[in-house]
Amino acid sequence: MEAGMSMSERSDGRESVAAEVISLEKDATETAGSKTADPGPGGVSRSAGLEKPDSVDLGESPGPSPGLLRSEAVDLFRRRDLTPLAAEARRIATREFGDDVYLRGLIEYTNFCAVDCLYCGIRRSNSHPRRYRLSSEEILAAVKEGYGRGLRTFVLQGGEDRWFTTDRLARICEDIKEVTGGEAALTLSCGIRPAADYRLLKAAGADRYLMRFETSDPDLHRHLRGGVELKHRLDALENLLSAGFQVGSGFMVGLPGENDDTVIRNVELCAEMGVDMAGVGPFIPHHQTPLADSLQQPLELALYATALVRIFCPETHIPATTAAGSLEKDGRERMIACGANVLMPNLTPVTYKKDYLLYPGKICLDESGLQCVGCLSMRVLTVDRQISFDRADGRVGGPAA
Ligand code: SAH
Ligand code: SF4
Repeated sequence: MEAGMSMSERSDGRESVAAEVISLEKDATETAGSKTADPGPGGVSRSAGLEKPDSVDLGESPGPSPGLLRSEAVDLFRRRDLTPLAAEARRIATREFGDDVYLRGLIEYTNFCAVDCLYCGIRRSNSHPRRYRLSSEEILAAVKEGYGRGLRTFVLQGGEDRWFTTDRLARICEDIKEVTGGEAALTLSCGIRPAADYRLLKAAGADRYLMRFETSDPDLHRHLRGGVELKHRLDALENLLSAGFQVGSGFMVGLPGENDDTVIRNVELCAEMGVDMAGVGPFIPHHQTPLADSLQQPLELALYATALVRIFCPETHIPATTAAGSLEKDGRERMIACGANVLMPNLTPVTYKKDYLLYPGKICLDESGLQCVGCLSMRVLTVDRQISFDRADGRVGGPAA
């Protein structure tokens, strides 16, 4: 913060710049899905004829006074009043993280998956994707490239692929630690595994683990996730915490069958779990899945949820998700304007990127990881933020008291 300038003065200045940027190039034709629904009161319900929520115009209002109560934030969400909600979320993010948006280099190391989530483009039953596994050498090359560019956090993400046994993954973790001189944080995101395996992976050098609970509705979870119980997922998250991981979780918004209460409960669950990172991703229907005909909910719904998470979980890292950037050109910037503070440049080798399509319309498929870093650096400037190469360890670390 500049000397002699108060937080509110500073944030007023920011808002006018952010508003300009965020209102640029809004065009419904740029959305990835073919069918877009208005969220309206009742939010993710499929009711017809409801009003579209206000667009994000962060310059209109000075925002609420500091210390918006959670109940007030929930009311704003239910009323679809994004301006004060976003202003409060951004105020908290600035207080906690300053101008910084942290980078995590993402490596999508396998698109094989034994699970059959109804929403996912690489689900077991989809015979269309060309399946691939990166070799250890390819993974290490991607890490080295990112490390050379300054990245200090790497995320290995993939389907639940048993070919990558815990021993194999552990060796890869050790190698990554070695080539980065122990300096880089290593995050895994490869689904549910036995508690003992999590402990082995932690011992091999993995620091963090990302696993969204996806939805807090137990029936919906079972239905959407090929019969996997929500409790099973939450137990696995507990096991990760017990193993000493910094844990990231989160949810999708706009899944068929959800409503406002689901979104609010999702946010509360993130706060109760005390996660170090909470990801909010707009669900994007994939044409090769059973949810192909679902309605595409507008990005705004993910923006509301992001702002709520920031207000409920002030110190938690929140990524501006690639799905948001895929749904709308400036989706990630708008998420940052609603309190997100992390971006994940994609370091997956370009030849494989197009085969890791969890959802259609994914951006940056032809760009190398280094191009991604460059592009993201420019993008955050448009919302008056700057990228940071700090490894930015988690600060929450366990369930709220
Ligand atoms: N297999 C691991 C990690 C890979 S999936 C796991 O499931 O945890 C990573 C994330 O992609 C999931 O958590 C889910 O939230 C998101 N995802 C899957 N399909 C999606 C879709 N159609 N639209 C938006 N996000 C999706
Ligand atoms: Fe597999 Fe994850 Fe996709 Fe589910 S969301 S099918 S676990 S990759």
